[in-house]
Amino acid sequence: MSVRLAPTVTPDTQFFWDGLREGRLLIQRCVQCGRLRHPPRPMCPSCNSLAKDAVEASGRGWVYSFVMPQHPPDPFIEGRYVVALVELEEGVRIVSNLRHVDPDDVTIGMAVEVAFETFDGDVVLHQFRPAVLL
Ligand code: ZN
Repeated sequence: MSVRLAPTVTPDTQFFWDGLREGRLLIQRCVQCGRLRHPPRPMCPSCNSLAKDAVEASGRGWVYSFVMPQHPPDPFIEGRYVVALVELEEGVRIVSNLRHVDPDDVTIGMAVEVAFETFDGDVVLHQFRPAVLL
C-alpha cells in the first residue's frame, strides 16, 4: 500500500477530512447567500458571512487544468503522476491527483469522478479517475 503525507487539519477544514473518511466529498456553503466555496475558509468571499455549512458533492466533474510534476521527485509517489484542478459539476474547483489513467491520456475537459482512497498510515484522500460513462 502506498503512503501519503497526512493533511494538515484545522477547525475550518475538519468537516472536509471527516467527510472523506465517510466516503463523502463535502463542499463548504455560505448559509446566508448559498455560495459554495473550496478550499474551506472562515468567511464568505461574496457576502462576508461567517455562517456556513456543507453540502455533499456528486463527485463528478471535469479536468480544468493539470500538470505532471517532474522535479523534485515526490518521495511518496513512484513514476509519473498527474496533479489536476478538477471543476466539480457544482461549480467549485478542487486540486487532486488523477489516478488509474495513463498521464499521456489526460486531456482538458476529460470527465472524471471522485474515488476515496485509503493510504498507509490511515490517510483517506479524494482522488479522481476517468468517469465511467453509462
Ligand atoms: Zn455568502
